[in-house]
Parts: sequence; structure tokens; C-alpha cells
Amino acid sequence: MIKANLIKGSVPGFIKTFDNLDELVGELERYICSSCVMTQQDYLDIYDPSNMSEDAREEFEYDVETAFPNDWKEYSVWSRMQLLLGTDCGCEMDVEFYDEDD
Ligand SMILES: [Zn+2]
Repeated sequence: MIKANLIKGSVPGFIKTFDNLDELVGELERYICSSCVMTQQDYLDIYDPSNMSEDAREEFEYDVETAFPNDWKEYSVWSRMQLLLGTDCGCEMDVEFYDEDD
């Protein structure tokens, strides 16, 4: 049976084992701060780019472009895992798979 380990690089010995990816991704989400999972809509709700300086607006547009898609929670578990691991908080997390029978 394939199992998945969640590893936190900054904490030696931090390793959690899961039987399925749904549980792993649920746990992984707990280590990702809320600003890392801001969606494109969240940015547009919070900031009004109309009275920003040009530099700030460029940065804002970049943030919106690279923000999570609005419907990311409906993505497959694999895609959600990739999104979360790609965030600033997620880059210290790692997932590895192994076969328990080996
Ligand atoms: Zn974060």
C-alpha cells in the first residue's frame, strides 16, 4: 500500500504519514498562512488599484496573476497539493511517497 509522508524541512524529524492524499493535503493546509492562499478575488476585494502609484499597481497586478485561482478548492487533491507546496510557506514542506510493502 502506498503511503505519503509530509515533511517539514525546517523542523528536523518532523514527519507525518498518511494513507491518503486528502488527509495529507488537509494537514498541509494548516502550515500555510492565509496570505499564501489568497485568491485572485480576495486581492480584488481587499485592494483598490485605482489610486495606487504605477509601481504599486504593477506589483498588485503581479500578485493577482500569481494568486490562487478562485475555485482552487474544487481542484483535484493533487493539484491542490501542488498549489500549496508552491507557496512561500509551502516551500519548506515536502511530500514523499513510499510503498509500505517494500
Ligand atoms: Zn505563507
